[in-house]
Amino acid sequence: MEGKGPADKFVYDFAEGNKDLKDLLGGKGANLAEMTNLGLPVPAGFTITTVACQRYLASGEHVDGLDEEITEHLEKLEEAMGRKLGDPADPLLVSVRSGAKFSMPGMMETVLNVGLNDESVAGLSAQAGGNDRFAWDSYRRLIQMFGKTVCDVPGDEFEQALHNAKTAKGVRDDTDLDADDLKKLVGVYKEVFAKHVGHDFPQDPREQMDLAVAAVFRSWNADRAVLYRRQERIPADLGTAVNVVAMVFGNLGADSGTGVAFTRDPGTGEQGIYGDYLQNAQGEDVVAGIRNTVPLQDLEQIDKKSYDELLGIMATLEGHYHDLCDIEFTIERGKLWMLQTRVGKRTAAAAFTIAAQLIDEGVIDLDEALRRVTGAQLAQLMFPRFDLDGEPEVLTRAVGASPGAAYGEVVFTSEKATELAAQGKNVILVRRETNPDDLPGMIAAQGILTARGGKTSHAAVVARGMGKTCVCGADQIEVSPSSFTVGGHTVNEGDVISIDGTTGRVYLGEVPVRPSEVVQYFEGDLDPALANEPLVAAVHRLMTHADERRRLAVRTNADTGPDAARARRFGAQGVGLCRTEHMFLGDRRELVERLILAEGGKERQEALDALKPLQRADFLALFREMNGLPVTVRLIDPPLHEFLPSLEDLAVHVAVAKERGESAKRSEKMLAAVRRMHEQNPMLGMRGVRLGLVVPGLFAMQVRAIAEAAVALAEEGGRPRPEIMVPLVGAVQELETVRTEAEKIIAEVVGDAPVEILIGTMIEVPRAALTAGQIAEAAEFFSFGTNDLTQMGWGFSRDDVEGAFFWRYLELGIFGISPFESIDREGVGRLVRIASDEGRAARPGLKLGVCGEHGGDPESVHFFHEVGLDYVSCSPFRVPVARLEAARAVVLAQPAG
Ligand code: ADP
Ligand code: MG
Ligand code: MG
Repeated sequence: MEGKGPADKFVYDFAEGNKDLKDLLGGKGANLAEMTNLGLPVPAGFTITTVACQRYLASGEHVDGLDEEITEHLEKLEEAMGRKLGDPADPLLVSVRSGAKFSMPGMMETVLNVGLNDESVAGLSAQAGGNDRFAWDSYRRLIQMFGKTVCDVPGDEFEQALHNAKTAKGVRDDTDLDADDLKKLVGVYKEVFAKHVGHDFPQDPREQMDLAVAAVFRSWNADRAVLYRRQERIPADLGTAVNVVAMVFGNLGADSGTGVAFTRDPGTGEQGIYGDYLQNAQGEDVVAGIRNTVPLQDLEQIDKKSYDELLGIMATLEGHYHDLCDIEFTIERGKLWMLQTRVGKRTAAAAFTIAAQLIDEGVIDLDEALRRVTGAQLAQLMFPRFDLDGEPEVLTRAVGASPGAAYGEVVFTSEKATELAAQGKNVILVRRETNPDDLPGMIAAQGILTARGGKTSHAAVVARGMGKTCVCGADQIEVSPSSFTVGGHTVNEGDVISIDGTTGRVYLGEVPVRPSEVVQYFEGDLDPALANEPLVAAVHRLMTHADERRRLAVRTNADTGPDAARARRFGAQGVGLCRTEHMFLGDRRELVERLILAEGGKERQEALDALKPLQRADFLALFREMNGLPVTVRLIDPPLHEFLPSLEDLAVHVAVAKERGESAKRSEKMLAAVRRMHEQNPMLGMRGVRLGLVVPGLFAMQVRAIAEAAVALAEEGGRPRPEIMVPLVGAVQELETVRTEAEKIIAEVVGDAPVEILIGTMIEVPRAALTAGQIAEAAEFFSFGTNDLTQMGWGFSRDDVEGAFFWRYLELGIFGISPFESIDREGVGRLVRIASDEGRAARPGLKLGVCGEHGGDPESVHFFHEVGLDYVSCSPFRVPVARLEAARAVVLAQPAG
C-alpha cells in the first residue's frame, strides 16, 4: 500500500485516515477515522474516496483497480471481525454510507444490513441467539432500503406492503409483527423488487455491496442533491466518499438501543447533556420518529455503564475537536459503539456564546473565536425577533428565505396587497409562487409566503434584494384564490399571520415582535438587566477583538445626521457615501423643479441660490455627527427628470385641464421639459458628472455648500473632514474639469480657515477602472461604486433584471448568488483590482474604498481586504457585520494556532 498517493489509493481503513482528510474521505469518513485513532469504540470499516467517486461519475463505469482495493480492505475487515461478509452460518453485515465533504442532510443515502440473503438470514438469527424475528426484520429492511436507494423502486410500495401486513394481522406497530409475518413480508418485498427492477433481489453479498457503493456514487448527482448544492453553494465536482462499516445492532432487545447527542445545547450553547435515546431500535428509527425517544439523561437509569462511557467520550471529543460535537451512537447488548461525530451545527446565538465559553475554558484563543462566528450570524442576531412567550400556534415550517419577523393580513394578489398597504395596513402576500407581475405587491407587503420554490426562487431572490421578510417552499399549504389551508386550518383573506424569515416558521395571528438585544447593545441603550446576558457579553467580547484585528476601516452610507449618528454608535469610522440627491426631495422638489424649468441663467441661478442654504444645513448636520471623521459627499448623480412628475401623470393632468378649459401653463411647460429630457435608457444617460458638466452652476452650488458647512463646523471648534466625490467619471478630463472649478470655489470659501477638503471620484464605469492610472492623477481618492460597476460590467440594469430573470440564472447555476449581493470576483472584482493597482502605481497613498451594497456583504468584504482597499462603506445596520468580517478576513488568512 505504501507509495500510493491520494490520486491512486482509493480505499482507506479507518485506522489510516484522520479528520483533516475531509476532501478525500468526506466528513463522515474523516471523523470515523479520527475517532478510531483516538481509541474510541468505532465498528471496523473503511472509506472509499471522493476521487474514486469523481472517476466513476466521469467515466460512468467501474474504476480501474477499485474492485481489487475493496477486496483487500474487505478481507482485512473480515479478519478483524472474525466473520465473512454474508457467510450463511455466521455472516458479517455492513452498512454502506454516503458522506461528502460538506454535510448534505438527507440528500444522499445509506443502506444498512448489506450481506443478508435467503441463507445468511438464518446465520444472523443464530448469532442473535435464535432471534428469528430480528433476522427477518433486518432482511426486510435491507430489501426495502436497497430497493429504494440502489434500484429506484418506489418506496411507498414497500410502505404499502408493510401496512397491508399489519392490517391483515389487525395490529398497529411494526413491533407487533412476528418472525413468520416478517418472513412473508420478505416474500412480498422480493416480488415488488423483481416487478420494478426486472430481476430478483441479488443474493450475492459482494454484488449487493458493489451495487450499493455505485448507487451512493450516483446519488451525488441526484436531482435533490444537485439542487441542495446549488442553494448552499457547494461545488458540483467534489463527489461523495462511501463508508463501509461493520453493522452493530441496537435492535436486539431492551439492553440495546440507539441515540444522538450534542456536547452542548446547539440552541443556546449552554453546557449540559443534550440528546435522545431509543431503546431496542436501529439508528434510522430515531430519525423517522417511529416511536418516541427518551431524553438522553434517562440512559443513566437504563444502562449506567454505557451512559458513563458515553459522557466520557463526549468530553474526549470536545477536548479533541475544541468545539461542540454532535454524535450518533448505538448500544448493542450493553456495548457502546460510536457511529458518527462532527462539529455540530448551531444557531447564531449559540455560535457566539460557545465561542466565548471556549475562550473562558482556555480551549481556543480570541482569533480562533473570530473564525467560528460569521457576519451572517451577527446579522441574524440583529433582526427583531418574535416574542414566543405566548406560545403562538405554528401553522407550518418552511424555508426561511429572507430574514426578519413580519405580520399582517393575508392577501393573495399583488393588487390587493398594494390596495391595503395604501390604507396603511400590514399585509403578508401569500402566493403559490411569485413572478415578475407580483413585484408591486411584494414591495407593498410586510412579508411574502410562497408554497413552492426554495432559496433561489423568484420570491426568495427578490425579497432578499429588497431586505423583505420571506418564507418560501411551504408545500404543506394549499393556496386557493381567497384562502389557504394547512393542517386542519383554513386561513382566509384578511386573517392575520406572522412569518419568521429566519426560522421559516409561520404562525397564526399577530405575534408580538421584540427588538434584538444585540442591536440595543450596539445602540448603547441596553437594559442593564441584559448586559450580563451571555450572548451580549459574547458579542461585546468578539467585536472588541475584531476591531483590534481588522485592517479595513468601516464607514457608513448615510445621508442625514440621525443616520450618521446611529451608524457611528454601530462603529462606523466615517461616511463613505452621502447621496446628495436625497436632499432634493420632499418640500425641496419645488425648488428643483424651478431649477429644471429655468429659462436662462438668471432664473437658474436664483433656484440654485435658494437650494444652497438648505444643502449647507444638511451637510453641517452630517459633519457635526461625524466630527473628526471623514465624510464623503457625492455630487448629484441621478438624471434630473427623476425629480419631475411622470410623463403619463403630466399628460393626463394637462389633457384634463384643457378639457375643463382651465389654465395649465405650468404643467404644460413641465410636460415639455419632461418630454425633452426623456431618455430611452436613463441608467446610461445624462447623470452623474455628465449632468454637472451640462447644467451650469449645479456642482458649483453643491461644492460651495460643502465648503461653507465645513468652515462653519471649524468655526464651532469642530474638525470637518469632507471629501467631495464626483460620480460616473469615465475619463480623467471629466474629473479635471470639475476639479478646476471646485478648487477655485474651495479656495474662495475656505480662505485660511483650518479646513482641508479632498477631491476624488467614484470608479463605477468600466472605462474608469481601465484608465485608473490617468484618473488617479486628478483624484485624491477612489471609491468603487460596485452597484454601477456590476450593472455596466455585466450590462444589465439592476432594477429591471432582478425580478425578471435572476431567479432563473440562479436556478441554472449561471451564478451561485446575485452579483449585486456578493461581488463577482472574476469579472467585476478584476476591474476593482486593476483600478486599485494602477491607481496606486500612479499615486502612492491613493485612498481606496468601496461604497456599493457589497461593502456590507461578508464574502465581498474579504475580497476588498485581499485587494488592499482602505475601507468599506455600508448601510448603518451592516456596519457591525462589516467590522466582524473585516477581522475575519485577517484571521482566516492565518493558520489556526
Ligand atoms: P445520515 O448521514 O443520513 O445520518 P448515516 O450513514 O449516518 O446516514 O446512517 C443512517 C443511520 O444508520 C444512522 O442512524 C446511523 O447511526 C445508522 N448506521 C449507519 N451505519 C451503521 C452501522 N454500521 N451499524 C449500525 N447502525 C448504523
Ligand atoms: Mg448520520
Ligand atoms: Mg453609481
